Amino acid sequence: MAKKLRQKKKLSKHERWLRTYLQIRDKDPNVKCPICGKSDIGFQHVGNIETRIGTIFIWCWSCMNGTTLGRVSIPLEIKMIPLELPEAEFRKYVPDIKLDF
Ligand SMILES: [Zn+2]
Repeated sequence: MAKKLRQKKKLSKHERWLRTYLQIRDKDPNVKCPICGKSDIGFQHVGNIETRIGTIFIWCWSCMNGTTLGRVSIPLEIKMIPLELPEAEFRKYVPDIKLDF
């Protein structure tokens, strides 16, 4: 009975965004927005250039919902921006998204 209930439970928003992150990380070409379902996902890694540890901002260009996941390791081939970037510069890379945790 308990098992059945657990299976029926919908994923939380955080879990759905986490799955989106894993799809991005695994270069899944079919990554879709967990909110509206469109294949219009953007992302940007922000962090420490030396340690390549940082935060990933993920958003949807269609509904402008998005999230951030911290303490991710940023692969060398992925373009990242430093944390210290002034806000005006930062906005060139990350749009003003509705953070949806
Ligand atoms: Zn969306």
